[in-house]
Amino acid sequence: MHVPPFSLTEQLRQLGDTLDHAVLDVLRSGQYIGGATISDFEAAFAASCGVPHAIGCNSGTDALVLALRGLGIGPGDEVITSSFSFFATAEAISAVGATPVFVDVDPDTYLIDPDRIEAAITPATKALMPVHLFGRPVDMERIGAIAAAHGLRVIEDCAQASGASWAGRPVGSWGDAGAFSFFPTKNLGAAGDGGMVTCRDPELAQRIRELAVHGMPRRYLHTELGYNSRLDALQAAVLAVKLPHLPRWVERRRAIAERYQRELAGLPGLLPAAPGPEGHSWNQFVVRVLHCPAASAACGGRCTPAADSASYGLPEARCRDWLKLQLQEAGVTTIIYYPIPIHRQPAYADLGYGPGSLPVTERLCAEVLSLPIFPELSAEQQDSVIAAVRRLVGAQALAA
Ligand SMILES: *Cc1c(COP(=O)(O)O)cnc(C)c1O
Repeated sequence: MHVPPFSLTEQLRQLGDTLDHAVLDVLRSGQYIGGATISDFEAAFAASCGVPHAIGCNSGTDALVLALRGLGIGPGDEVITSSFSFFATAEAISAVGATPVFVDVDPDTYLIDPDRIEAAITPATKALMPVHLFGRPVDMERIGAIAAAHGLRVIEDCAQASGASWAGRPVGSWGDAGAFSFFPTKNLGAAGDGGMVTCRDPELAQRIRELAVHGMPRRYLHTELGYNSRLDALQAAVLAVKLPHLPRWVERRRAIAERYQRELAGLPGLLPAAPGPEGHSWNQFVVRVLHCPAASAACGGRCTPAADSASYGLPEARCRDWLKLQLQEAGVTTIIYYPIPIHRQPAYADLGYGPGSLPVTERLCAEVLSLPIFPELSAEQQDSVIAAVRRLVGAQALAA
């Protein structure tokens, strides 16, 4: 049996005619940019996040850029975030001319470690950008308290966390702004690119709306330099059909995650993702494959050196890479989110974060492996993932 890391077409099949009709209606209407399909979806999305305003745009990356620009963050400003994330988190900060400042993550949650934030605050710090990585919500009460104490803005990177909440309140409703992605593999995925900014302040919402359309408050009057970043009607139509299903899909993800936790607990050298707070939306289920001290012995000499980790000065990833290869041979496709942390990317060499500067993040990048998790994953498919992991990890331990 082959188990893919995600499945996009299965969802389409389930939605069937409803989705087909929604797309055809837009095609036939000729209203592709702007219009009620988009504003209705924005209103529905805002309601699902418990905020008064949601502004569609063309990607999660742009949602971050628009939120930063909307809050007046730019050259000379620093924004504190985590390096254990998708590159776009930091890229958006740099795109507005500000500087990303990376704080190490908590080894159990993989999220920015609130205890380390205050040490990174300088007079140039303007905002905190917590990332709800893999769908796990950051402790937004802690983040809010730190921001309030230092007069900082908060922009939530909710790209992986549609459907997640902290303390019963949806992500994207805690900070000054939230940025969501509708990239197809996220919890709520479009049939292409798309994004959304959520906020409570009507003036900020208006500013972001204008920035997204060439800084244009009224037709052909441009009050500042903006972007061409819109959610188009076809994507809004697809997303509007899917949004009501999101809570049910997230429930499925939770059930799959709980089963992985139960059945992969206690294996030697393997740490399944910690149980989440209630509002975890499980965009990914990550296991840590701990690197055994005598790598070649433990893997029976079968593990291969990882070229990537060697060249970026990262810890050894051989056991993880070995498990990934073996799972692939057993028909289970896994993904590494992320093999190289943002602060060690060549594009950020000038920031000067050397090897070992964020040790927890660097270790996680050498150990993490995402197992298949998506709402349509069948019990039989999950059986086969669990059986393969148990067999391989058990065999690895025996060889040690
Ligand atoms: C996907 C993602 C983004 C960017 O979203 P796009 O829609 O792909 O531009 C930003 N941050 C994180 C954490 C992401 O996972």
